[in-house]
Amino acid sequence: MLDLEAIKAQRGNKPVPYGTYEDALAAMEQSLEEDAPPSKEHILINNRLVAWEAYLGIAKVRSFPTQLHVGLNDVCNARCTFCQYAPERSTANMIKADDLRRAKWMKYVMNFFPNAGLSEPLIHPEIEDIFEIVRDNAPHINMHITTNVSLVSERLLPTLVSNLNVMIISLNAARKESYEALMPPLKWDRILRNIERIQEEKARQGRDRPQLQAGYVLNKHNLDELPELPSLLRRIGVEACRIIELKVPKPIQSRALLTDEDVASHDRTLALRKFEEFEAECRAHDIRLTQPLPAF
Ligand code: SF4
Repeated sequence: MLDLEAIKAQRGNKPVPYGTYEDALAAMEQSLEEDAPPSKEHILINNRLVAWEAYLGIAKVRSFPTQLHVGLNDVCNARCTFCQYAPERSTANMIKADDLRRAKWMKYVMNFFPNAGLSEPLIHPEIEDIFEIVRDNAPHINMHITTNVSLVSERLLPTLVSNLNVMIISLNAARKESYEALMPPLKWDRILRNIERIQEEKARQGRDRPQLQAGYVLNKHNLDELPELPSLLRRIGVEACRIIELKVPKPIQSRALLTDEDVASHDRTLALRKFEEFEAECRAHDIRLTQPLPAF
């Protein structure tokens, strides 16, 4: 028997979830027994049970994950200088579309991310099927992806746009020269054209999703151009971005990576000035930051 009062005292100010744990568990059991077609109600039932299990510290849970991160593969077509990805360490193992087809329980999951570890999810040979299967199993799920957006084929484009809610594009530069130096062998012009094609497909489908966001791994080679990023993002229809401080990668055999010498914080005064200019440009171009700037 749970001593809720004792648990409340331990949790301090943490809000007590809605209703009771017993009701949340009973709702899940009834839902599993009914096995009804997917609806938003499945997500609500699961979220409520997850909240209670977390609040009570229950280890043997009866809920499903609210956020599902699936490493579809461990292969990437880029060789970024700030990333430890190395083909010689890739296993080439991949999740098969049929594995996901069986996962009918995904109707309980709120968010799906086809990313885990270092990889480019759009390289997966069954990627179109995977998006469609997830959507069939879980019509109300939010699908988010992080991608370098270099592999947007004509075939994939409609599926991407009709299924994704958020696309985080690993952009990492505001100038062609630094992009191509930081993310070889990817080509700046092709990436910008692919983003444009996504916007065209959104217009064709009459959708305002996926929302496009940019990721930017800050280092001394892309610090100077940081204030140019917001106007570029506005021009190509990217609404938000996050600036992440370079985490210096461990050396790998196959190529030279950035080192301690390449962090942006070496010249703190310059970095802080660039941050100020960047924030002013974000305001001018209405670009939202999805996380605070690095604290130098
Ligand atoms: S695109 Fe992503 S996974 Fe691929 S090398 Fe660059 S940072 Fe690493």
